[in-house]
Amino acid sequence: MPLAEPMWLFDLDNTLHHADAGIFYRINRRMTEFMAQALGIDEAAASHLREDYWHRYGATLAGLQRHHPHISIDAFLQYSHPLPELLTVLQPMVGTAVALAALPGRKAVFSNGPSFYVRALMEAMELTHHFTALFGTDNVGYCYKPDPQAYLQVCTALDVPPQQCIMVDDSAANLHAAKALGMRTVWYGSTAAPLPFTDVVAADMAALRGCARRLAAHSQPDQSLPQSAP
Ligand SMILES: [Mg+2]
Repeated sequence: MPLAEPMWLFDLDNTLHHADAGIFYRINRRMTEFMAQALGIDEAAASHLREDYWHRYGATLAGLQRHHPHISIDAFLQYSHPLPELLTVLQPMVGTAVALAALPGRKAVFSNGPSFYVRALMEAMELTHHFTALFGTDNVGYCYKPDPQAYLQVCTALDVPPQQCIMVDDSAANLHAAKALGMRTVWYGSTAAPLPFTDVVAADMAALRGCARRLAAHSQPDQSLPQSAP
């Protein structure tokens, strides 16, 4: 039985643009500054805490919510995502618009970043019109990938079952959770490699475009697909 039209769920950072080219550095620096000031600790301690929360909870904000609930979520997100500065170092992935136009089915962005940041980057890259919806963490009750609840909230909002979705992400942990829910998975990026929970590995947008139709048309999501070369 052929699947219904696929719903592609795209991560944003290091999937649709090179966050490691400068944006992540700036966000992390601003998060550290905010935490040092808000918690009354020095920047070395704040930097350590930021990384600790990121590793433990998948997002620095998740750790702040859990351990420092007095901190304003909105103030933290606004301070740590200074859009005018971030947009000066935005580097889109080469070939993204061509790849998106070639993928059959609908697309949505599903990011752990705040929605105002997601929308600003997508508009700056002139990619918004390719997508049915854009999801930031505030659109899913401040849940974060790889928490299954985040994925399920996105599916509910899009009115699609997980089995209809194809998750494209540079994070293996995020894909592991997606596969556990029944999604098909694409590990995106130059360092990605085949793993039991990845259906396809795509080193760049040209590779994603090359495997798109085979992935979208595949009628048995749980059956292993031949891996593409990383
Ligand atoms: Mg990412």
